[in-house]
Amino acid sequence: MSQTPSTKVYNVLVIGGSKGGINTARELERLGAHLPIRITLLEKREAYFHTVGSLRAIVQKDIAKKLWIPYGNLFRNNSRYGHTVVQGVLTRVFPFHIEYANTESPVNFLPFDYLIVATGSIYPEPAKMTSFTAKQGIETSLRYYRCIREAARVLIIGGGPVGVELAGEIATEYPEKRVILVHNQSKLFLDEYKDSFRDRAREQLESLGVQVILNEKVIIPEEKGLEPGGQTRILRTASGRAIESDLQFLCTGISFDTRFMQSLSDNMAGLVDPSTHQIRVRPTLQVRDPRFPHIFAVGDCNDAPCFKLAIHAIAQGKMTARNLRHLIEHDISHQRRDLGRMAPLKLEEYRDRHNLMTVSIGRHRGVTQSRFGLVLGNWYSKMFKSSKSALVDARWRDLHADRENASWLHDEVV
Ligand SMILES: Cc1cc2nc3c(=O)[nH]c(=O)nc-3n(C[C@H](O)[C@H](O)[C@H](O)COP(=O)(O)OP(=O)(O)OC[C@H]3O[C@@H](n4cnc5c(N)ncnc54)[C@H](O)[C@@H]3O)c2cc1C
Repeated sequence: MSQTPSTKVYNVLVIGGSKGGINTARELERLGAHLPIRITLLEKREAYFHTVGSLRAIVQKDIAKKLWIPYGNLFRNNSRYGHTVVQGVLTRVFPFHIEYANTESPVNFLPFDYLIVATGSIYPEPAKMTSFTAKQGIETSLRYYRCIREAARVLIIGGGPVGVELAGEIATEYPEKRVILVHNQSKLFLDEYKDSFRDRAREQLESLGVQVILNEKVIIPEEKGLEPGGQTRILRTASGRAIESDLQFLCTGISFDTRFMQSLSDNMAGLVDPSTHQIRVRPTLQVRDPRFPHIFAVGDCNDAPCFKLAIHAIAQGKMTARNLRHLIEHDISHQRRDLGRMAPLKLEEYRDRHNLMTVSIGRHRGVTQSRFGLVLGNWYSKMFKSSKSALVDARWRDLHADRENASWLHDEVV
């Protein structure tokens, strides 16, 4: 802030290198090429993890290592301010800097003029990975791959998008195995979805031989939860029904870790929803607390009223980049007292224009609920999602990723 207007470089700090963060950072790099901006992307993992393919990777092992995509060429970097990707874990947010931990030191600092938090969501493995390195993540996928191959009966607890996709993947790849999906509602998914979408998904799973049990809640043994790794168990439902299986997957939903926001304000409830832990945002995706108009939350981690989907994280990231350009241009004009050229500062607001949900059910099936409530079946859904290896290849191209930077690609898959 001590710099004169002509030399000031705006530090834009993006936390989280997935759909929301990458789209904010790269769109701002493109839109703000003429502006004095330095973008830093802080990500805890050594490489981008392509979540959309995670469930295919545990039945088709050759995909697992391609899901980890190096960040090396994320920025085109024709900027003289040097955009960078830094590996580390965000630990605390303050009004104009953050603290993060990495392998070298538990406390490091990064300053910012604008902060974009895009730290996403947490799902139980193997849908999302807890590991920070590609090698460990690939080992986790392959461990599940081996467990599935060995199990005769697989129990999936939770009939949301992840549980349904997982059941579809296993039943397609291993038609001889018994796959049981238990969901605690009268139809699959949540009530927000159309009945015909929910029914179509069940029919498709049943046509693959999946046993779908509705209106039952599986009781998870409290002490240990469900440790990963195939183990034959008998679990009971709340109504007393016993289900025996050799491998169990917990697909009961999404959670958020936003504890790093605590350091920003003593009124945590104003920043983060105490029940969900999502960051509270205004329609512009600025945090709701008016003291921090330069801090945004994008994608899964915010409480914007839409499904937690990549299409929203991407659209929110791009919109935030447009708003940041506008804010920075406005600030520069203001500093120069160039009032005649100052456009009025009106930021874009996020509206859910997509309202599209596609769930793939194995390689050949799927169901889509479209924007106008129309429910579409295999052909449309397959076109969008089922060819997951093609989608992974597209991500490599999109990130301009270089295979030479991905040592794990050259390791033998076992
Ligand atoms: C199995 C599965 C399949 C899916 N399929 C689809 C689909 O087909 N279509 C669709 O639209 N959506 C799909 N989704 C949802 C989609 O993956 C998410 O909505 C999307 O990834 C959200 O992007 P994001 O950037 O907000 O968060 P995330 O993808 O969760 O990314 C957050 C990033 O932040 C990093 N991070 C987190 N905390 C910190 C920290 N403290 N410090 C530093 N870095 C941190 C993480 O490592 C991660 O890279 C699927 C989800 C799952 C689990």
